[in-house]
Amino acid sequence: MLVHTIKDVREKVKEWKKEGLVIGVVPTMGALHDGHASLIKKAVEKCDRVIVSVFVNPIQFGPSEDYDKYPRTLEADVKLAEGLGADIIFAPTPDEMYGEGQRLSNDTLTYVAPPFFYVNKLCGKSRVGHFDGVCTVVMKLFNITQADYGFFGQKDAQQLIILRKMVNDLNVPIELIGCPIVREDSGLALSSRNKYLDEQGKKDALALSMILNNIKACYDKGVNNISALKETAFSFLTEAHELEYLEFVDKDTLEDKETADNNTLVLIACRVQGVRLIDNILL
Ligand code: AMP
Repeated sequence: MLVHTIKDVREKVKEWKKEGLVIGVVPTMGALHDGHASLIKKAVEKCDRVIVSVFVNPIQFGPSEDYDKYPRTLEADVKLAEGLGADIIFAPTPDEMYGEGQRLSNDTLTYVAPPFFYVNKLCGKSRVGHFDGVCTVVMKLFNITQADYGFFGQKDAQQLIILRKMVNDLNVPIELIGCPIVREDSGLALSSRNKYLDEQGKKDALALSMILNNIKACYDKGVNNISALKETAFSFLTEAHELEYLEFVDKDTLEDKETADNNTLVLIACRVQGVRLIDNILL
């Protein structure tokens, strides 16, 4: 069932709660692909009722980012989510979600700001305010849906770590379930932004997963020196790639690693054809 208002979601949730049903929420920005589908399937398996939100969240985009051109495919999204067994597809307008507080601003919106340490690195460095926007919308979705479980992809690893921190710090009564990265056969991590790439761009985008797989292969052979592991990336990069970062951090705390070990998460962000792509691998 497609629902556009918070009121309608709350009414359904109230009924479900009365019946003692377990509720799962899968927050998305739509343009659903098999990565999103894996989250929805997991949610349907684990929960009695599933709410998939489809909302391109304006407050998590910077002024020069792709908010306006972000792909919007609601009709197909509803079909896919319902086909997988979702009970509600919640697609609010920005007005419905924020009223007048449609920008991150102390004057118009109470928002959730994760600690500086977590946002001042990796994606947060180039996307100032991004994780404030993410935490704020996700907290609103948790409050609106009253879900018992929230489903998130490991694809956005920093996001998942930050959301776990938020849930823990603010005692949000929900359990977060992290789901593995879904990839094309080529290795390319699925992303709604892959739609911006042409054939050549998709080929060039393979460098991200190739770099990560190669680092893991070297680590598995016994190399744990991070500078040496980083060096191996350069043979995959061409003038088609604008590397933003390649970092080695602790998989739970985001602290920088001095040497690689089995708790090390390797994250990469790189632009191809102007499209910002991210990927990661656990060693
Ligand atoms: P988005 O619509 O990009 O905001 O993503 C919504 C959710 O789907 C987030 O929890 C993402 O981490 C997750 N997701 C996106 N791409 C993938 C993927 N390739 N594999 C698994 N989860 C994904």
